Amino acid sequence: MSEPTNQCVSGVETIDMQGDVIIVAQGSSTDKTRHFLVSTKVLGLASPVFLKLFGPEFLEGQKLANTYRPEIALNQDIPAIMGVIFTILHYQEPEEMSEMNTQWLASFAIHCDKYMCTKALWPRVQIWVRKLRKKILTPEDHGNLLLAAYLFRDSKYFYALSREAQLKLPVAFSLQWEKSETLDSLPDTVKFQLSEGIENLLDAIKHEIYSVEESLRAHKASHPIQAKDCSSCGRTHPAEAQFCKPCNKYSLQPKLCTSDYRISQYLLTLQKTSIWPSSKPFQTLSASEITSSITLLQTHLQPDCATGEICPLKKEVEKLVRTAHALLKQTAGLFLSEIEAPQDQATE
Ligand SMILES: [Zn+2]
Ligand SMILES: [Zn+2]
Repeated sequence: MSEPTNQCVSGVETIDMQGDVIIVAQGSSTDKTRHFLVSTKVLGLASPVFLKLFGPEFLEGQKLANTYRPEIALNQDIPAIMGVIFTILHYQEPEEMSEMNTQWLASFAIHCDKYMCTKALWPRVQIWVRKLRKKILTPEDHGNLLLAAYLFRDSKYFYALSREAQLKLPVAFSLQWEKSETLDSLPDTVKFQLSEGIENLLDAIKHEIYSVEESLRAHKASHPIQAKDCSSCGRTHPAEAQFCKPCNKYSLQPKLCTSDYRISQYLLTLQKTSIWPSSKPFQTLSASEITSSITLLQTHLQPDCATGEICPLKKEVEKLVRTAHALLKQTAGLFLSEIEAPQDQATE
């Protein structure tokens, strides 16, 4: 991130020329300590935590009453994030946003929650969420944005992002999330409900894949297709072939698309789209990815069966594609009202 360009007097970044306090954001040992000249009035209006801190009950507040522009130290915050919060609360444009990503936004949300200034900052954060939502790549991106919606208490985004997560995350997403310290701030209920939603969705899709095989077994009719079978070895040959070379015989018969043939074609096609056998793909792929593969099944069918109107395989595969898409569409998001509020806000 670029160096702040706020007017600096002896290392103090002036956010408000008329400011009455210098906040010293110390952060952890690796963060550079920064000094911000800000207005206690502005911060107190946006945040009940600052209001209390600057009040008479606290040592900091007493310092304010007795000293000109006292320094008040804040520990364990990321100084750069505090800088952005102060800048926006003072109606100015933050300048260090170029490298913003979902991880940064989630940390920002945690800081806003800590100082209880989420209401004042949500209009701005909403714009960032909208922008970052279009660039989601990893399971952590899903989690970080969901955490922001949760801490900023936006039920609309929380519903939409949790719905999207169920469609786009594989069932093993929680292993990735466990590696992120930031995502510890998301209640376990959210992780649990998402896992459950993903598992149910994948199970429903898997069930539909199995049920095609059952339906195909029930269809007994057969229709001729443009190929020949060797009655001796069972090999399939092109329609114009007369002779089975491996058998050295004139043993070719017009080929029929029968119930057994359709089942074998179906299983073969599933394998081609790499969603069969189902154990591994259903662990590593999302419902959205599996549905894309299911959609591809149609392109792998035998031309005779894929273009004609009579083949039950074609009809069953089309139905499977429709059902899988409908299952995605029907998936509901999580309701923020059913999730416990963040610690700080529970007592609000
Ligand atoms: Zn043969
Ligand atoms: Zn057919």
